[in-house]
Amino acid sequence: MKDAYLGVDIGSISTKGVIIDDDNNIITSSYIWTEGSPIKAVRKLIDILKKDLPSNYQIKGIGTTGSARKLIGLLLNANIVKNEITAHAVGTLTFYPDVRTILEIGGQDSKIILLKNGIITNYAMNTLCAAGTGSFLSSQAKRLGLDVSEFGKYALKSKNPVKIAARCTVFAESDLVHKAQVGYKVEDIVAGLCKSIVLNYLNNVGKGKKIEAPIIFQGGVSKNVGVIKYFKEILGEDIIVDENGHLMGAIGIAVLARKNKIGKTYSLELSDIAFDTKAFECSGCPNNCELLKIYRNNELVDSWGSKCGKY
Ligand code: SF4
Repeated sequence: MKDAYLGVDIGSISTKGVIIDDDNNIITSSYIWTEGSPIKAVRKLIDILKKDLPSNYQIKGIGTTGSARKLIGLLLNANIVKNEITAHAVGTLTFYPDVRTILEIGGQDSKIILLKNGIITNYAMNTLCAAGTGSFLSSQAKRLGLDVSEFGKYALKSKNPVKIAARCTVFAESDLVHKAQVGYKVEDIVAGLCKSIVLNYLNNVGKGKKIEAPIIFQGGVSKNVGVIKYFKEILGEDIIVDENGHLMGAIGIAVLARKNKIGKTYSLELSDIAFDTKAFECSGCPNNCELLKIYRNNELVDSWGSKCGKY
């Protein structure tokens, strides 16, 4: 039997999983929507990965990362649980050992990681405002009657991107509606949105950070060629986008699971494990987060859905 390692990156929007071998080659991977239920999403993810794993592999390590990492770590009996910053850095360094800057824009948050000689020197995350993230782009695409996968194509056609105020979702939406009503071309509006996402990211997440090459752009939004174009233009540097960039957190935590293996062989049969959940709404601030408390054998093991980390 050959050894393999599972990495799971579970966020509020998407759940990513990879199984790698001893040489960090990806044997199988999957990217699915979390749909408000991390436990259900992970059960589904494991079913998909299990089907694609050749029978001559055995799982010798499991790692979890992302906002529900602790919960899913318990569910899977993980041998390592680490935050997204560490997982993304390790995943990226595995393929790009010289990387100096990681730009990441995901479904609902964004981050920047600065590195020197393979060590994280600084980082920042934006989890509170959705402006400029993948979910924001999808809702703006819908408003324009487009599929978000067409955004890049439209953005590249534009010669005169319009200025969109994207520092906040509310401003951006009203600005976009106004620009569409007064008759600007769709490609110029789309290009304006892509450009404003880059400016918003650099002025917020990247504020005060020295962005040095090699620069790797990852996360779901890195599939958008319009956003890549404006990162290149505004930073004046080449931007590397890896085809597995959207899986980098899962790859990183799988690599860490391999490095921290404890000699145990893991089962991917999850059907026997019972978890209970209770939903409640926090009234601690106007975000009114919908939270999920998770119990195993009546014992509270984790809470999920807080935007501020209070629970
Ligand atoms: S968990 Fe409560 S205090 Fe924290 S952001 Fe959500 S609503 Fe506000």
